[in-house]
Amino acid sequence: MQKYNVPATIFLISSYIGKLNEWDANLGWIHFKHLDKEEITELIQAGWEIGSHGVNHKNLKGLSKREIESEIGESKKYLENQFNTKVSFYASPFGKINLNILEIALNKGYKGVCGFYSFKRYRTTLQIFEIPRLAVYSTDSIKSIDRKLSTGLRLKIEIFKQSITNFCSNATILVNSLR
Ligand SMILES: [Zn+2]
Repeated sequence: MQKYNVPATIFLISSYIGKLNEWDANLGWIHFKHLDKEEITELIQAGWEIGSHGVNHKNLKGLSKREIESEIGESKKYLENQFNTKVSFYASPFGKINLNILEIALNKGYKGVCGFYSFKRYRTTLQIFEIPRLAVYSTDSIKSIDRKLSTGLRLKIEIFKQSITNFCSNATILVNSLR
């Protein structure tokens, strides 16, 4: 990305910096290590922006208003202090989003919220602060990434694939809630 001068934002989970992820059910055997403070600092120095992906990567839809405010607000404060930079965007864990979450994020001072939106909403009713997000996985190809950045039917295919992945991430949320 540096080579092609492409700007980027990385969304960090404030309590997972330098730690292993623990929320994915993923059949239990793969755990990825999150970037540590030095690695993140290196990205910032290379021009990357940092955003928040919450404190604990919780599905906000199952939480009380106070808990949602804490996930959204405390992660912003923590990241801004740790990295001495402004955090203006929030990406909701599992892409879960509703009006309540949007309102809290805007009240906490974010300029925009990334989440999963239906194809119909992509084209008609998205507000300026609602940023549609499609995930990129290790199984993606240059072709599928290109489709994610396109419009019309090609984009629709990827949104459909994402909705299947979301269905699977609901299984993760369910498994976690039973732990
Ligand atoms: Zn996530």
